Amino acid sequence: MSNMWWVVLLLFALAIALLMLSLRERRKSRMPDAQVIYADTDLWQRVPETLVDHQLGLVGKPDYVMKTRQGSLIPVEVKTGHTPDTPYDSHRLQLMAYGLLIQSNYAQSPDYGLLHYLDKDFRVDFTPNLEAQLRETLVEIRLIEEGNEIPARSHNSNARCRSCGYRGICDQKLI
Ligand code: SF4
Repeated sequence: MSNMWWVVLLLFALAIALLMLSLRERRKSRMPDAQVIYADTDLWQRVPETLVDHQLGLVGKPDYVMKTRQGSLIPVEVKTGHTPDTPYDSHRLQLMAYGLLIQSNYAQSPDYGLLHYLDKDFRVDFTPNLEAQLRETLVEIRLIEEGNEIPARSHNSNARCRSCGYRGICDQKLI
């Protein structure tokens, strides 16, 4: 066999090995079999755009937006730290907000999103009930902002306070 054929065979074997590796990595990451069209990291694109919904007054950057083979969009939010038995309400509402941001920015309503915790993934369906909860929460946030009142702590979880970004200024923290 000529040298050229050896090179072709070698390249073919390399391509198969890379394909197997990428399939194994995808399985390990538990990400859906879909194309990433948005990523909140400058490794994938120069400046990840912030998604905006002027009507709702929402801005945000999902960790990922995936596009399935059927063309459906799925927001994915990656959470580090403890994996809960069921997703926290705040995480479900955050994902729903990304669902609405995708609706305004990509003219397509996602049916669900994924919460990617360390040990487990949760599918969160974007039901009318969850959307209504989010809209109510947004109204409450606006009222709190306007009234300048600090809301009462809604939980007794040391772990939540430990990993909270507002610990430094919160006078209701548990630890
Ligand atoms: S530190 Fe304050 S804002 Fe953060 S979780 Fe605890 S009580 Fe809530």
